Amino acid sequence: MSAWGRRVLGLVIGGFLVIAPISTARAAAPDPIKSDVWGKGFTGTYRFASNVPSGWMRSAISRAIATISSTSYANPTFRVTTSSTANGTIQYLKPSSNSCDGDLSWRACADAYSDKPFRLWLASDTCWTDGTNSTCGGTKYDVETVALNEMGHINRLSHHVNPAYSDAVVQLTPYPYGQIYGTNRFLRWADNDGLHALYGHDPCTLPPCPLEPVP
Ligand SMILES: [Zn+2]
Repeated sequence: MSAWGRRVLGLVIGGFLVIAPISTARAAAPDPIKSDVWGKGFTGTYRFASNVPSGWMRSAISRAIATISSTSYANPTFRVTTSSTANGTIQYLKPSSNSCDGDLSWRACADAYSDKPFRLWLASDTCWTDGTNSTCGGTKYDVETVALNEMGHINRLSHHVNPAYSDAVVQLTPYPYGQIYGTNRFLRWADNDGLHALYGHDPCTLPPCPLEPVP
């Protein structure tokens, strides 16, 4: 389970992390990585459930998925589909009535499985923004940043351990939009190290590449 953003606790910890954002020191030990469920060079699809607001929110989520789907590693590539048999579904749900493995106060929830489609949930009672548009007027969270964090979990990465926030987008603590690291829309060295450790380099990084995984 990767529920992101235990509301009150996350922010308190977040404040502490602001003190140490400049560190570029690499983590002594690699971050924990989950078991692989995709294999190398997997290409698949994802779909939006009807409860996900159309327009800017879907575009921001799709940008995040495109970012982690186009690395130089053999990690999975996902493309959007309307087919009901997609490899994963994005949902916009109320946390209090949708348990994320026992957690009812999540801000985002995602995981991948070997025996069923992946899930990526965003909390419908959180304020989301793409930097221009937003779903409400309260403290906002960047939907592309959070979606990229969650796609890290779909790629079987766990949260980065070394608390230097500049090391990774796959981190535990959510920063509100407008704060340092509130917008974190690309993979950082610790994310890439994790993808490299799990999937290795993509043998073909110069498109046109074969669509099917290389045997
Ligand atoms: Zn996370």
